[in-house]
Amino acid sequence: MAKVLCVLYPDPVEGPPKTYARDGVPEILSYPNGQTAPTPERIDFTPGQLLGSVSGELGLRNFLESAGHLLVVTSDKDGADSVFERELPSADVVISQPFWPAYLTAERFARAPNLRLAITAGIGSDHVDLNAAIERGVTVAEVTYSNSVSVSEHVVMLILSLVRNYIPSYSWVVKGGWNIADCVSREYDLEGMDVGTVAAGRIGTAVLRRLKPFDVILHYTDRHRLPLEVEQELGVQYHPDVESLVRVCDVVTINAPLHPETEGMFNDALIATMKRGAYLVNTARGKICDRDAVVRALESGQLAGYAGDVWYPQPAPPDHPWRTMPWNGMTPHTSGTSLSAQARYAAGTREILECWFSGQPIRDEYLIVHAGSLAGAGAHSYTAAKT
Ligand code: NDP
Repeated sequence: MAKVLCVLYPDPVEGPPKTYARDGVPEILSYPNGQTAPTPERIDFTPGQLLGSVSGELGLRNFLESAGHLLVVTSDKDGADSVFERELPSADVVISQPFWPAYLTAERFARAPNLRLAITAGIGSDHVDLNAAIERGVTVAEVTYSNSVSVSEHVVMLILSLVRNYIPSYSWVVKGGWNIADCVSREYDLEGMDVGTVAAGRIGTAVLRRLKPFDVILHYTDRHRLPLEVEQELGVQYHPDVESLVRVCDVVTINAPLHPETEGMFNDALIATMKRGAYLVNTARGKICDRDAVVRALESGQLAGYAGDVWYPQPAPPDHPWRTMPWNGMTPHTSGTSLSAQARYAAGTREILECWFSGQPIRDEYLIVHAGSLAGAGAHSYTAAKT
């Protein structure tokens, strides 16, 4: 019998939805690189329903309890008295989502002698101290590709909303106004602008593909170049470093993982080299941008807008300056947890658990840390901190 400790975000303030806006979600069988969507033996949930909050339980309860395991689900994850802290010492498996991360620090690993598997229901395991996982032989897995397209759609939405000044214009309508001049004094067309992505992995490339029909000039930087035929198909220009990219771009979107190389990348010095009035969109991780440098740049006009859904810490405290800085298009961490994405990462979490409990190998593309070292997708995307 294993104890599975699952940390999910709280239910809606009015309780779990009784009805939904739509009757279902399209079934996605494979991703643009040919990887198949999750293939658990079965699922015990209805795709399109809320699974990522506490009452949704990622649809895991029947599966785990019928196999004799114990499932504890909570949203209470921070502080010494939290349910997470209390349950962790006897947990064998921890499941957490990047949207509401249960930070698995080295100290927490030390208090969890039974812990063998940490699953990220979603993508991005930077809330887990990977070095500690390596040292303790804990496997870390995530549901690679499950929400990459979801995030790329969100990025395109954010770019358009900033450039076209959508949020302030919408606010005028809600306030009862018809203030066209106020709205359009900051509204531009995206057409013809230089748009660049920091990283062209699954999300970054999906963003480039979605932006191509807008007749923009595309740019990217990454640790590795895309295949020449992809560069030619997208008409995208490669930059060897982020400095060269941001100098020429009107819009920059960040799609790199958070790791020692990217933490604090967008600081005062880098932002000062961007075009005046550039837009910055970050759906990767909050810590890739220096919090106060972003605020200063919006206040001075160096940046014309900043939007994204990633913060540090999460949830962001009520006085986090990104909530109130000018020209921001911030949301809570939602881009990768649409109802559509939840169906895929809940199925992927189930697939990982089925493999784990039956002694079958977890798909290589889901592995971040395994058998004492970075593995699979983790070996490709992450750098272990130097000890
Ligand atoms: P991928 O692993 O497919 O792509 C990441 C890319 O970043 C790789 O091409 C990698 O290069 C590149 N990269 C790494 N370090 C650097 C660097 N210093 N400079 C430039 N490029 C770099 O990941 P995804 O596209 O699936 O996801 C990217 C990130 O987005 C995740 O790590 C996560 O943090 C975030 N995310 C956010 C979500 C949300 O809800 N907001 C949901 C899902 C993900 P190389 O191939 O050479 O290693």
